[in-house]
Amino acid sequence: MGDLELHILGGGREVGRAAIEVTYRDNSSLLLDYGVNFDENDVPQLPLHIRPLKVKGIIASHVHLDHIGSIPLLYVSSSPVFVATKPTIQMSRYMLEDFLKLSGYYLPFEYNEVLSMLESADAKDYNNTIELDDFQVELIDAGHIPGSAMIKVYIKNKVLLYTGDVNTIETKLTKPADISKIKDVNILLIEATYGMTNHPPREIVEKAFIYSVKEVIDEGGTVLVPSFSVGRSQEILCLLAEHLPYLDVYYDGMVRTILDIMLENKKFIYRSDLLEKAASIFKRVRGWRDRRKAWRNPSVIIASAGMLKGGPSLYYVKKISDSKKNAIFLVSYQAENTPGRNIIEKGRISDEYPLINARIEWFDFSSHAGHNGLLNIIRAAKNLEHLIIVHSEEETALALANYLKETLGIEALVPNNGDTITIA
Ligand SMILES: [Zn+2]
Ligand SMILES: [Zn+2]
Repeated sequence: MGDLELHILGGGREVGRAAIEVTYRDNSSLLLDYGVNFDENDVPQLPLHIRPLKVKGIIASHVHLDHIGSIPLLYVSSSPVFVATKPTIQMSRYMLEDFLKLSGYYLPFEYNEVLSMLESADAKDYNNTIELDDFQVELIDAGHIPGSAMIKVYIKNKVLLYTGDVNTIETKLTKPADISKIKDVNILLIEATYGMTNHPPREIVEKAFIYSVKEVIDEGGTVLVPSFSVGRSQEILCLLAEHLPYLDVYYDGMVRTILDIMLENKKFIYRSDLLEKAASIFKRVRGWRDRRKAWRNPSVIIASAGMLKGGPSLYYVKKISDSKKNAIFLVSYQAENTPGRNIIEKGRISDEYPLINARIEWFDFSSHAGHNGLLNIIRAAKNLEHLIIVHSEEETALALANYLKETLGIEALVPNNGDTITIA
């Protein structure tokens, strides 16, 4: 047993299910994220198990389910402190409520555990250090979604940083990740969802999106934008408020609750002025009466869920897909075997549904750093001793590790779930 060990409980050679345990002298540990993935039948896949009594604290990088979905499990038999930013804590209630509604049958916890988790919550701002047993912890802006954090841990004489999901560019909602705080890091655990690809510049994607929306509306059509309820929906609302404020824009689904939480936490929103403007000029769908009306005239409808696995977006697709005048603009990542991916690849929700006549387009609004952004993060660590790649498909992670070795002479580890990494 080494003094300091990292246990990869999830997110090893896979995107999502982030879960890392940092153990000191075998009797005290911190949990960095405890997320969930879904298999092809939508059954939740939990991370590996840990002994909850040893855990001195759970730190959540951000509110996406692949980072927080399994945290309530720890509260079945224990009550460790739950540390995250205020928006992450507030939004987690709704994300987990929704998760229980959709997948409760498979989950070894209930709403009570979610409540215990929220009762144990300790909201922290960026750049404040807190003590948890032998560990000192600091949250740093990760630029991924509002409230997202990189987690910096000072332990013994080492500095560890786990990026969570990270983005290095400016968007309407987020400033770039604060990589000035990476300088003294010795152990870097980095996500690499897009380890070997770069995204097109954001301004170009934004311009193309605005142009296409205008085109459809000018022809008398309606645009449906199925979108993740945390982050992407509000980003699209900001874009429309800035460039096309005169349009009829509706928003529907969990987007609404999350928008309210973001407006309560303006210091975590980069262009909160645009988000406020969007909330005041655009229309919130309040129920079925609004919903039935929204798609009948030329308008833009932003609705969850982003991959069309449920939520009001599925209703709107059925209503608008028959007409060539209308359009479905996908602005979020579409996982395999989801209705969203089927729409892009086969032009239909699934084999049981008719072909879609409406115009279909996908826009690369990513909230993850591309290859060059990840390199900037790695280069920022001037005292790097251990580099560990997580939250990445196996092929991508190995290709990135190989690239780093050949071009920068940096050795990176690509662990499997279940691996222990001992820090000398
Ligand atoms: Zn993630
Ligand atoms: Zn995320």
